[in-house]
Amino acid sequence: MAEEPKEAGQPKPGFQNPVAGFAVTFKAMFKKRLTEQYPEEQKTTAPRFHGRHQLNRHPDGLEKCVGCELCAWACPADAIYVEGADNTDEERYSPGERYGRVYQINYARCILCGLCIEACPTRALTMTNEFELADSSRANLIYTKEQLLAGLEEGMVDSPHAIYPGTDEQDYYRGLVTEAAPGTEQQAAVSKGEDPQQAAATSGTDEPTSQEVIGR
Ligand code: SF4
Ligand code: SF4
Repeated sequence: MAEEPKEAGQPKPGFQNPVAGFAVTFKAMFKKRLTEQYPEEQKTTAPRFHGRHQLNRHPDGLEKCVGCELCAWACPADAIYVEGADNTDEERYSPGERYGRVYQINYARCILCGLCIEACPTRALTMTNEFELADSSRANLIYTKEQLLAGLEEGMVDSPHAIYPGTDEQDYYRGLVTEAAPGTEQQAAVSKGEDPQQAAATSGTDEPTSQEVIGR
């Protein structure tokens, strides 16, 4: 009578079983190790990796965000909160009529999908390669406008300040403004969104509820 074929994964008889296990270990000893020595050694991300967001500036330092809330509406996780406000000649944050007075992203909710940056009509919102966003406080995971705003580069003056003389909003988007006008000075920031920003920075036992921080 013919012997029945053995099923895959069936234990080997006698002493062969533990020896077969050591053979697997022995072979693995000579394979290339995949262990990453994080955080001592940082791995470079892919160029288009979706990391922390950034609110960009025009080349003269004015902000690109116009407070339209399209990013907030596009977000499937309801992670963005925006409050727009009107610019004035005495306090101008962006070249046009409106700017983002309060801007918050809640990284306890964000899934880094990138839908918000696709929705932004001015390319004010983009994503960086920064991925170290973990924190033990929910309040600290709510990033405010101050944290998200891009740093100042050469030729920029921090907002608020006057629009480049002789230009309008369209000229900024045509790339005609390449730096701050000579003598540009920062204006007094009277109507910044300090209150919600301060609420988001509260931590520890005074940590606010999401409703208090987000304000809705
Ligand atoms: S990356 Fe996705 S989840 Fe995060 S804020 Fe943007 S739209 Fe919302
Ligand atoms: S980041 Fe873009 S989409 Fe969001 S409020 Fe500002 S301009 Fe509008």
